[in-house]
Amino acid sequence: MSRNSQQYEFYQFEELTRDEIEALQAYRLPKTVAQALRAPWYAEHLDAAGIDPDTMTSYEALGDIPFTTKEDLRAGMPWEFLAVPKTEVVRMHYSSGTTGLATAIYHTAADIRRWSECVARGMLQVGVTSDDVFQNMMGYGLFTGGLGLHYPAELIGCLTIPAGAGNTTRQIEIIRNFGATVIHILPSYAMRVAHYCSKNGIDPARDLSLRIAFVGAEPYSRPARARLEQALGVKAYNCYGLSEMCGPGVAMECTAQEGLHLREDHYLAEIIDPDTLQPLPDGEEGELVLTTLTREANPLLRYRTGDISRLLPGPCPCGSQHRRIAPILGRTDDMLIIRGTNVYPMQVERILMAMPEVGSNYLITIETVDEMDQMTVSIELSEEYFTDDVRRLEGLRQRICNKLQQQLLFRPEVKLVEPHSLATSEGKAKRVQNNRQ
Ligand code: ADP
Ligand code: ZN
Repeated sequence: MSRNSQQYEFYQFEELTRDEIEALQAYRLPKTVAQALRAPWYAEHLDAAGIDPDTMTSYEALGDIPFTTKEDLRAGMPWEFLAVPKTEVVRMHYSSGTTGLATAIYHTAADIRRWSECVARGMLQVGVTSDDVFQNMMGYGLFTGGLGLHYPAELIGCLTIPAGAGNTTRQIEIIRNFGATVIHILPSYAMRVAHYCSKNGIDPARDLSLRIAFVGAEPYSRPARARLEQALGVKAYNCYGLSEMCGPGVAMECTAQEGLHLREDHYLAEIIDPDTLQPLPDGEEGELVLTTLTREANPLLRYRTGDISRLLPGPCPCGSQHRRIAPILGRTDDMLIIRGTNVYPMQVERILMAMPEVGSNYLITIETVDEMDQMTVSIELSEEYFTDDVRRLEGLRQRICNKLQQQLLFRPEVKLVEPHSLATSEGKAKRVQNNRQ
């Protein structure tokens, strides 16, 4: 906890006891259901399901509410999910549309304030103070990564720099000139910034003043995090969110770096089996389902995020009693079924990023060969390891194949490629190319 976190009144919600959190949820759930009923879509669907807000006072009662999906949001575009008069809306955001048509989410002034407080709590929790210089290296605009951390940083009192994504030369220049200490960045872009530094003789730990990086908006593995921390000379904290739930800050990692604390006074979380749609016990991996507890403009009930995680049992060493989720493994749509085995790109990444011979980027390609699915992993070598020695390369290739086979239970093709030769993108990284017929 940062030395000045107590000066922020909203920080007290970070320190609620388990009983207090649950009491607050039980108090807020019926209110949120009543608020949802003001939106035409929920008025129709909750009525049909016979939902009475007054009975919605427990976690168990929640089970009677039908799920809301991304498809529902699309069908309800543009106004069916709006629960306040349009005149009360002060902002809209659009989801990035990674998996299809983008959907709009609306906010009242109070929604924006609560969202900012939520994120600010997560930032304060890992020691951000008003003395910090915060450089936001996420895209601004409809994407929530920009404004989503901008306002919280200002709320804390940081000197806040809306750098936006890309233009690495200028990013480094700003970090240097203005002494940025905290950044918010995509994991894939962070690796490119690290590469830029090493190419230009900059040692971030020595030459830059960075100390904290909030890293999120796409999945990354623990070994990737360790690399990133090492390369940029920072502590990296995972930050999760989605536009439908405001954006970043739904769950953020604390100083213990053992899972991401949900802000449970604003979001009610469930983990379900994405096939049977039944709730799963704590600790089991499944789809994260979230209910907003305080949103006015756009309350969402039992929203299926499509993200795979699990609730971590037991208390966190940091003392917070808000429950934690494990880092997101991927989206349900990212799951590849290859020769009957379920594969998430993160399972591949975990293995690759733990090997010093492997560079910062990889790509999984799926093809149909002789009516069978064929998975090929193209892997950049690290600069230190890069060699022309064919025998050494073949040895490494075999070693990677073996490790992947142990994890995936089938043997993928592995292609080793030169450092920094695979395509990169401005936005979220594309880890899979599906050429399946
Ligand atoms: P889109 O779904 O179109 O990408 P968003 O910009 O709202 O739109 O992105 C939210 C999604 O990004 C989440 O549902 C999740 O899949 C992914 N995401 C966000 N933060 C993280 C994170 N820290 N780790 C893994 N995935 C993340
Ligand atoms: Zn913690």
